Amino acid sequence: MRAARMNFWKLFAVKGFNKRTATDFTSFAENAKHGPADCVIVISEWLVLYETLGKVLMNSGMTAQVIVGLVNKRLIGVCPKCRTLYPGEGLATLSMMHDGLKIINAPPDAYRVLEGHCRNDSCTCKKMMIFWKPDEDRNAISRLAGLGINVRPKV
Ligand SMILES: [Zn+2]
Repeated sequence: MRAARMNFWKLFAVKGFNKRTATDFTSFAENAKHGPADCVIVISEWLVLYETLGKVLMNSGMTAQVIVGLVNKRLIGVCPKCRTLYPGEGLATLSMMHDGLKIINAPPDAYRVLEGHCRNDSCTCKKMMIFWKPDEDRNAISRLAGLGINVRPKV
């Protein structure tokens, strides 16, 4: 009886969970501990990535304040289709909006992104490229330059 019940919950949990966390961002976050990292995500997964990144960096000894500072200044998202830029600061703010904090004058595109759509309302893309510390990565700098986004290399 007991085993059968456990299996039921296991099944239920996996079924419910898979949809929301289709991607494991641990390897991205582990790379981010040591230097630049990038990946492509489904826009609606941004908060999962942000949470994973925060947890891993905090476990490595960084304070929340340092992490938020880095996300604000040295993380960017880019739409692979229309090349719209998502500044890290805006992406960090989405997490606060999600936590129920009212952001005064939140732009309408923030709500679009929270719902998994591109900031650009004439774009149907549901993905986003995420770059962490691209300023330390020559390869990322040139990929971004190809998308029309100039990143100043950090010496
Ligand atoms: Zn787009």
